[in-house]
Amino acid sequence: MSSPQLDKTYNPTAVEQRWGSYWAEQKLFQPRQTEKSEAYCLVIPPPNVTGSLHIGHALNSTLQDILIRWKRMQGLQTLWIPGTDHAGIATQNVVERQLKAEGLSREDLGRQAFIERVWKWRHQSGDTIIGQLKKLGASCDWDRLRFTMDDGLSLAVREVFVRLYQEGLIYRGERLINWCPRCLTAISDIEVEHEESKGTLYHIRYPLTDNPETRLTVATTRPETLLGDTAVAVHPEDPRYQHLIGKQVTLPLTTRTIPIIADSILVDREFGTGVVKITPAHDFNDFEAGERHQLPRISLLNHHAQMRPDGLQEAQVDQQLQESLQYKSIQEARLIVVEMLKERDLLIKEEDHTMALGKCYRCKTVVEPYLSPQWFVKTAPLAAPAIEAVETGNIRILPEAWKNNYLGWMRNIKDWCISRQIWWGHQIPAWYCRTCNKDHLVETGSTVERTAEDPDKPTALTMSCFISSDAQPIVAKTDPTICPQCGGSDLFQDPDVLDTWFSSALWPLSTLGWPEQTQDFKTFYPTSTLVTGLDILFFWVARMIMMGIKLTGQVPFKDVYIHALVRDAKGQKMSKSKGNVIDPLTKMSQYGTDALRFTLASMASPGRDMKLAEERIEGYRNFATKIWNAARFIQLHADGAKTSAPPASRPFPDRWIFSRLNHAIREVTKALDTYRFDQATSALYQFIWHEYCDWFIELAKPSLQQDNHPDAPFTRQTLLESFEIIQRLLHPVMPFITEEIWQSFPHEGLSIMTQPFPTEHPDWTNNQAEDEYALLQAVVTTARTGRSLLNIPANHPLTIWCTTTKDNETASLNDLQPYIESILRSTLHLANNTDWPSSHILQLISGNLTVGISVESNLDLQQVIKKVNKQLEAKRKECTRLQDRVASPAFREKAEASVIQESEERVASLKQELMLLTSSEQQLATMLT
Ligand SMILES: [Zn+2]
Ligand SMILES: [Zn+2]
Repeated sequence: MSSPQLDKTYNPTAVEQRWGSYWAEQKLFQPRQTEKSEAYCLVIPPPNVTGSLHIGHALNSTLQDILIRWKRMQGLQTLWIPGTDHAGIATQNVVERQLKAEGLSREDLGRQAFIERVWKWRHQSGDTIIGQLKKLGASCDWDRLRFTMDDGLSLAVREVFVRLYQEGLIYRGERLINWCPRCLTAISDIEVEHEESKGTLYHIRYPLTDNPETRLTVATTRPETLLGDTAVAVHPEDPRYQHLIGKQVTLPLTTRTIPIIADSILVDREFGTGVVKITPAHDFNDFEAGERHQLPRISLLNHHAQMRPDGLQEAQVDQQLQESLQYKSIQEARLIVVEMLKERDLLIKEEDHTMALGKCYRCKTVVEPYLSPQWFVKTAPLAAPAIEAVETGNIRILPEAWKNNYLGWMRNIKDWCISRQIWWGHQIPAWYCRTCNKDHLVETGSTVERTAEDPDKPTALTMSCFISSDAQPIVAKTDPTICPQCGGSDLFQDPDVLDTWFSSALWPLSTLGWPEQTQDFKTFYPTSTLVTGLDILFFWVARMIMMGIKLTGQVPFKDVYIHALVRDAKGQKMSKSKGNVIDPLTKMSQYGTDALRFTLASMASPGRDMKLAEERIEGYRNFATKIWNAARFIQLHADGAKTSAPPASRPFPDRWIFSRLNHAIREVTKALDTYRFDQATSALYQFIWHEYCDWFIELAKPSLQQDNHPDAPFTRQTLLESFEIIQRLLHPVMPFITEEIWQSFPHEGLSIMTQPFPTEHPDWTNNQAEDEYALLQAVVTTARTGRSLLNIPANHPLTIWCTTTKDNETASLNDLQPYIESILRSTLHLANNTDWPSSHILQLISGNLTVGISVESNLDLQQVIKKVNKQLEAKRKECTRLQDRVASPAFREKAEASVIQESEERVASLKQELMLLTSSEQQLATMLT
């Protein structure tokens, strides 16, 4: 194929646009249907429809793209499925905010119109994030784009709900759940964020009913809930209270008496007074205690977390107090109750107390434990095989460190509340017959509630909380029209929707066409690797594992790779308010997408956080430029005769670079195999920049720049061949620049992305060439040190003398002489020490080598000695400082092993430098006299 010349300067934007659209036109991201090859499949963690690409997505998608491009080049049948999530509450909140700006609420619109509005907004805002992922180079099969609420996925959701319901793994019941009084919905345990907060511990007297002079002391941070107490508990073996078990106390501020019961689970004898109140409707532990002792539950709050009149009445609160409490918020009610307790001398003391406050992860409102009928997934039977899959290694969680987080959580898993009292999402496929359930419905799925703000204008709420847990649901895949009990047709659907994570739990199945046994499902399930952040390990990963195994008998993926969170350069969380957000799209247009991708991959080491400094992206932009310039150099010099000789029979520089290339291929492959993206990029960077560009291209120059040089055909061949392999090795990380270069070199095929990934060639490894290179490098760097010590400019030729104490190196030095002379642009004399000039030569010793540099008579020796002394002083200081540090027990205890090792190595190299400088200083001083 014809090869266009590369532009003089690297313009990432143009390159990215060109190949981005080319790949799409050629449909290169589709799986190649070659039956023989192994399948490799990734499913993208579906970003929210509300979203746009942030740095976390950029990292997550870059790592997946590296894997899929690598496996594609290895010849596997690869598929990466993209998609977005409807993101229930998050999306509903966005549209509700828009409505609020128009002075409207979702209730004003009504359910149908509201849902239409969300869909409309979704179509308008489009898949912004999808376009941004394409810009990043993500090689997903865009023809298979899915959405968690599209038809196929909705079908899968119903299928699963019905199956699990029929097996008793989904049930409806009245339980204590976490309620957000702002979002007006239940949320699951893990959607509650716990925050440390300052509160007050109130010590309250509960008088014995038959002997009011005796009072038990109960401590609580929530005195307003005491009105809903239905017992107090003591430890059964506590001698202080044993005689009171079975007696009654009079509940303060009410006309009720409640029993003193014994409970060894709830009560810690050592804590406080050893007496605790039990409020089953307002505390999770109390709810369980209430279950154990069949205690009544009195719910004091309405949906807005205000004191409800019927609850106060049921609690038999003193009449006057009932009136002042109704529709009061929790804070207001607390003040009133505390005031009243003081008045009646029932409050002993108040003390400061730190406690964990639960907040809604969507809106940060304090959540309330709330008693209401909800739908649950019975999780324990699903968790058991999901635990086993990870324990046996059927699923690997990487880095290993996170495995225990997963297992710990799964072993203590609670039932999962899956119903949400919102409108945007998969409506629960359960229906109720009005005729059969007439005693169990407050109103058909909608009721009114009065609030303090405006008691005369009740708020309409549409939620299943008004359908009693005794009602009989009809659960079906298709909408029923007739009641199977009475044959009536007065049915209505459960108004709640499913937790958004319910549909994403099915993602690896449903995106492949399940429950249909599609070709995709047969080929690509179980998928291969799931790449995700730690924050959704429980929300998403654990649930996919449970659902996948339950529904297919197979794990949904084999590896879970968990990457760190991207933080700013100082290690702080990025946030708009701190102003430290690094926007990936800005950086992509500023430095090029490949540079950003390389940066993110280079930081992906196992650990919790990664610190992203802008300088790093800039550094890798320079790396891309370096590669570009090397490509230009090769393009300009590759014309002319070439060779077909194998690398082993080519000249020294060629043999050496093939040996190093082989090493790089081995390192990169090993690193990718173990998800060490950081090590893969480090191997690429070291090899391409420091070995290939800094040394090999310099070694290649003499034969290219001299007419009819006998090595030229070899050099041209090696440059073209090796650089093409380098492009393929680098392609998964830097797809755009490598495609541009590959296309501009002689090539066959449509794209670099479908070429084979480089593999090792045993015959390329050449230890002799590597030893020779080490020798050459030692001579060159020692001579350069001397040049710099003597202040001789780089373009000024030197006269150099060189001797080695090792016999075999003498022969090598002879072979290397022309290369060394060319690199140093100097004359090299290889000689025995005895042949050396007796004066005006600076001798530098490096291992077996002695390198001498002629000191010309016009050199300002005074000046040079001054400079050497200055360096000596600085290095001595640094050496002493580092030595002290390395010796300090505090440092050795706290620092990481790699840091200690680095410091020790630095000390050793400083000592070498000091020796060299001292010797130079002495030699120069002699010349002065
Ligand atoms: Zn909320
Ligand atoms: Zn019926």
